[in-house]
Amino acid sequence: MSTARGAIDIVLEAARRLLEKPGSADKLRTLPVAKAERPGEGWMWVDPPPWAADLVPNSASGFYLPAQPQTADWRSYDWWDGAAALLQSRYERSREARLGPVHSYAFRLDESFQPACDHAWVNRIVLFLRRWWCMENNVPETEAFGERPAPVIHLTHDVDAVSKTVAIRLKQTAFSLYNRRFRAGARFLLGAADYWQFDIIDRLEAAHGWRSVWNFYGGRGGWLRPPKELLMDPSYRVSVPRIAAQLQNLAADGHVIGLHPRYDTWRNPATMQREKEAIEEALGSQIDTVRQHWLRFSFAQTWHAQKAAGLRHDMTLGFNDRPGFRNGAALTFVEPDSGMVVTPMVLMDSHLHDYADLNETARFAAIDRILDELKEVGGEASIIWHQRVFHPDYGWGKSYEHLLDGLKKRGFVSGTETGYCSGRTIHTSR
Ligand SMILES: [Zn+2]
Repeated sequence: MSTARGAIDIVLEAARRLLEKPGSADKLRTLPVAKAERPGEGWMWVDPPPWAADLVPNSASGFYLPAQPQTADWRSYDWWDGAAALLQSRYERSREARLGPVHSYAFRLDESFQPACDHAWVNRIVLFLRRWWCMENNVPETEAFGERPAPVIHLTHDVDAVSKTVAIRLKQTAFSLYNRRFRAGARFLLGAADYWQFDIIDRLEAAHGWRSVWNFYGGRGGWLRPPKELLMDPSYRVSVPRIAAQLQNLAADGHVIGLHPRYDTWRNPATMQREKEAIEEALGSQIDTVRQHWLRFSFAQTWHAQKAAGLRHDMTLGFNDRPGFRNGAALTFVEPDSGMVVTPMVLMDSHLHDYADLNETARFAAIDRILDELKEVGGEASIIWHQRVFHPDYGWGKSYEHLLDGLKKRGFVSGTETGYCSGRTIHTSR
């Protein structure tokens, strides 16, 4: 297999935020990058030359990349094909074709795949190629390519509950028991609480000068649903006046409203479209942004279903059970098969509070690691903090404040201002 020209185009298109200076992409096309003769299997560490040593993450011993059998060193590695394989989730797609979707649980995937998600390798590859061109042509990097861009974050809130439902009690009690927090579990199961936390979040974000994306459930809600729906899906109805008014207020305040499809709506465009229309009716205007509930997701089916339902921008690409870069990239890109615009999700509240039993210091450090990576590589990604978790039942608002402070400290830009969410086209987003 020779490197398809497609791989180069796909990588350059996705990485355009790192190549904003006119002519940047054409410069990279002139590099003498090796061509992969045949696809490899598995993963390998590749050492960059000394002049690119600073592009290797501090905690790593090289670039962790899709294996290529002919590779002896960095000169014989096909960087375009390696970057495209990551960006397009080639490993996960081939696994899904054989074994079915993992619905965004990393633990179901090979151990050897996990380091591929630890860093934004695709961004690092493009930065490496920039550097390589400068070495070949003896031109300072900022003169040739400009500064690395400011990192972009799409802050998002998936609205799974606006009141303390039986399903939420059971789910969170299960996590408490799993983490051996028995008293918290009992308190959670039995205590009363108001999960209407919109105003707290809105105030917090306004104080930091941020707006965010709010993904709402558009299903039928209520009690007359099958047990699985009652357990797995939200129970509110977006048509209820108090909730519809909240959607409208958020939108009027500069926030973006999106769809959070039901647990079972991950491949059915007709159902997805009905749910989308329910949100639009409550909101009084059209929406095009989406994240799948429970990150229920298939590479082969979900983006096609979203597109057919009239949606355009998805932020599902991430894992339920670990933070990280599911396709090795912190880039908003157009998925070629479906035409969906995809922004990866790299961090979620429950990564820090449910799936790992961390203390506050460790939680803050995990947030910092993700933000540092994004800053270092000029990345763009999305982060989830659920609406209800600002209630003291959870008490996860403090980590969110640390996140907001960290964004400010590192000069992050909001996706609702400069990214696709702002309503501009993908080609002008940064
Ligand atoms: Zn959800």
